[in-house]
Amino acid sequence: MLPTFEPTSLPESTRTLRAEVRDFLEGELSAGSFVPRPNSWTVFDAAFSRRLGARGYIGMTWPTEYGGRGASSLDRFVVIEELLAHGAPVGAHWIADRQSGGQILKFGSEDKKRALLPRIAAGECFFGIGMSEPDVGSDLASVRSRGEKVDGGWKINGTKVWTTNGHRAHYLIALIRTSPPAQNRHQGLTQFIIDLRRPGVRISPIENLAKHDEFCEIVFEDYMAEDGDVLGAVGQGWQLVTHELAQERSGPERFMSDFPLLIELVRRAMSKPAAHRDIGRMVARLLALREMSISVAGMLTRGASPDLAAALVKDMGTQFERDLPELARLVVASEPRVGAEDGYDDSLARTILYAPSFTLRGGTREVLRGIIAKHLGLR
Ligand SMILES: Cc1cc2nc3c(=O)[nH]c(=O)nc-3n(C[C@H](O)[C@H](O)[C@H](O)COP(=O)(O)OP(=O)(O)OC[C@H]3O[C@@H](n4cnc5c(N)ncnc54)[C@H](O)[C@@H]3O)c2cc1C
Repeated sequence: MLPTFEPTSLPESTRTLRAEVRDFLEGELSAGSFVPRPNSWTVFDAAFSRRLGARGYIGMTWPTEYGGRGASSLDRFVVIEELLAHGAPVGAHWIADRQSGGQILKFGSEDKKRALLPRIAAGECFFGIGMSEPDVGSDLASVRSRGEKVDGGWKINGTKVWTTNGHRAHYLIALIRTSPPAQNRHQGLTQFIIDLRRPGVRISPIENLAKHDEFCEIVFEDYMAEDGDVLGAVGQGWQLVTHELAQERSGPERFMSDFPLLIELVRRAMSKPAAHRDIGRMVARLLALREMSISVAGMLTRGASPDLAAALVKDMGTQFERDLPELARLVVASEPRVGAEDGYDDSLARTILYAPSFTLRGGTREVLRGIIAKHLGLR
């Protein structure tokens, strides 16, 4: 069935919120606290996250009793849109805010909610995503990390890889096989909250093309998880991970990773009328994606499950993110280099080096198109 992207307007109240966030960010910029960067949602800055937490910009949609502010997904949309538009370093708390906190809120025990959510919302507790493994990415149900039931808990062995900022995080939500694959491979999987500071965890950072240690490999060697570290019920991991992926795919970061480059491109192309049509087309695509993403935020506010809509936004959004540096390279003569003094050269270099990952991380283009085809009844 075709998804319906109901036109959704941002409520009037979000204007004040947007103005507050802009004020805060202008203050941070004039204090020199950060340099705007493309792909800023993987740039780790714990102190910046703490300042955002103190202003109530993390865990915004969670109930106040767990440190949230009971705001709507549309309020959250406005805040994260401004952060991304400014290229602010939001990578430290991004995963905990976007998906891990929500998983704990929906599936965690009361103890875990009380222990972890207020710390996440304060910008003091960071999470990684423990899904992919060596040779296991798209076909997630074939994860090989295994949990063996022992007295009072679970003994976990295995390897996770490509874990964004995992070497800087406190916790991981990991998908683990807790009973042998049956006929239905989606059974027998369980999500655990893993404390990355406990014994039995070995972490090795991995550099990306830009020489940034953006992700890591995490090896579990007889890691002991407690029964209370299980999210949801044992064996329910597939349903939980599917819910987590919908949160992971639906936000504006899936089409705004290049935004600081787009701003610079528009500035520099003012004097190049021949490029205006192509740039206009790009901006039109961006605005359409934005409307779709606001509509997804509206669905989340109404409690709907936007799996298909999220897959569409991510597929089209990340294609946009890959096309933009191509146009930027053709329109403005530049010598892209990371660390170049010229902001355009630096932004373009970073975007070119990160772009191949845009259509991989969070589920590849082919996998997303498979999901879309299934929903449309084509397979
Ligand atoms: C920057 C970055 C950050 C990441 N962060 C994390 C993280 O924090 N946590 C985490 O768990 N993982 C993370 N990942 C891993 C990411 O989720 C996987 O790379 C992705 O799911 C693809 O898995 P794979 O690399 O094993 O490729 P494979 O699954 O081996 O795929 C290889 C190719 O085959 C294609 N393919 C696979 N199956 C099909 C199919 N059924 N039909 C058609 N084509 C298919 C894929 O589209 C791809 O082009 C990150 C990846 C990147 C690049």
